[in-house]
Amino acid sequence: MDGRARARAGLTASVVAAVTTALTLSAPVASAHDSDSGDHGHGHGRFVAGAPGVGDRYYPLAGNGGYDVRHYDITGSYDPASDVWSATTVITARATANLYRFNLDFDGMTIRSLVVNGDRARWVRNGAELVVTPKHKVRSGSTIRISATSSGVPKEFLLPLGNASLRTGFMATDDGATVAGQPDVAAGWFPVNDHPRDKASYDFHVTVPRGLGVVANGFLAGQRTHGNTTRFDWHAPEPMSSYLATIDIGKWDVRQGRTASGIPIYDAVDPDLVADPVLGPAINASLARQGEVLDVLSSAFGKYPFRTVGAIVDDQPDLFFALETQTRPVYSKYFWPDGGDSVVAHELAHQWYGDDVALKQWQDIWLNEGWATYAEWIWAEHEGFFTPQDAFDNFYDGIPVDDPFWTFVVGQPPHDDLFGDPVYIRGGMALQALRNRVGDDAFFTIARRWVQQRGGGTGTTAQFIALAERVSGQQLDDLFDAWLFTGSRPTVTSLGARTAAPAAGLAAVRTWEAQFTKRAGRY
Ligand SMILES: [Zn+2]
Repeated sequence: MDGRARARAGLTASVVAAVTTALTLSAPVASAHDSDSGDHGHGHGRFVAGAPGVGDRYYPLAGNGGYDVRHYDITGSYDPASDVWSATTVITARATANLYRFNLDFDGMTIRSLVVNGDRARWVRNGAELVVTPKHKVRSGSTIRISATSSGVPKEFLLPLGNASLRTGFMATDDGATVAGQPDVAAGWFPVNDHPRDKASYDFHVTVPRGLGVVANGFLAGQRTHGNTTRFDWHAPEPMSSYLATIDIGKWDVRQGRTASGIPIYDAVDPDLVADPVLGPAINASLARQGEVLDVLSSAFGKYPFRTVGAIVDDQPDLFFALETQTRPVYSKYFWPDGGDSVVAHELAHQWYGDDVALKQWQDIWLNEGWATYAEWIWAEHEGFFTPQDAFDNFYDGIPVDDPFWTFVVGQPPHDDLFGDPVYIRGGMALQALRNRVGDDAFFTIARRWVQQRGGGTGTTAQFIALAERVSGQQLDDLFDAWLFTGSRPTVTSLGARTAAPAAGLAAVRTWEAQFTKRAGRY
């Protein structure tokens, strides 16, 4: 059970409800709950406006209600001289309510035309909400085909990180663009149901000046040069959350092959970085180990969930983070020359935790970052540096009991610090505490079963706790309440006897910690 966890999470609901109420439209609204229930049936009952948000407490306007996107087909061209991105996005969705109106998320660029099911549609823009009124109402269960043509310089976003912030989104480079951000990125460059819980497959058809390349998620399906331009077709068939979609444009040093276990690999590194005598060899060495990383993580978490893998490393001076863009993470160059292997382990771990099993609500971000941090510790153990227990001991004993680290509630992080350090480190410690309580066998069964049962979909903290209790046969409220929902340092009495970590292990953890904290951004 997870009663206390839910009760505590409920405390914020009333605060956010006040915000949500202000946004509620006067007409009946199809919420995410309505659409899940199927109460609207097929063609019976009234027609409603789709909700402007999917129901996320932290981001009330993220995503929309009343439909479920199946596929995005994005055909566009990018001009590096002007940074203008012009595209037609064809969205295939299924209505989950009888709709006379629905919303998309789209922030910034100009809309040239909008067609729904073959007819021109009316639309108005309200901030990042695109409110669409189709010529003909849409019946629940029917297919909605939206074709939106837009152009402009895509919007960038600033992600707050405590008292700092991070540039994210569609960011121009000296020879193209890098596209990465979390949670905001997708709505800056295509109309979208912008919440991780509405997964879809994607096709990208991107035309760029001849001599430049495009790297995206999934498989390169085609590449054709006509005159002065080249078109790249990328196919990402596996269900993907919107923030994980990326197209990266510029000059690329491309390496293709297979991992030792047979997974096709496609890496793209900016040639300026490859040419750097310090960064080039360091980046190459980390990327060369991706197959080994996947083998180590597969032993712990189960089979790698996707059919292709790889990395994108661009020379973008303002990119201070890495992101788990599905099948092909985007990395800041600043992770090299020191510590890059660990970040590769982190982003590849997200392919299981974050990508294949996505967040149903942003509040549960520790499920992504705690697991990815834990994977770094598993990799460190594989490398002979330190064990996850060494990491636990280092932080438990080393961070003063009155430090803000312990008052940060990772299961309910501050809205303006969703990616604060404790989400990562205390999140990883929570998993080590779980491992100590239930034992190695149950712990790794939980890890694998989570992905087996929820791969392709989403999961919540409450569902994770329920699974941990089912697998272990133990009541774990006290453990999860202490580690996720309490703003103080948990006691470790329930962990049994702790043996002092070896000095070499602790020293290695501190090296890792120094790399972690010196990183300007997040990953
Ligand atoms: Zn991460």
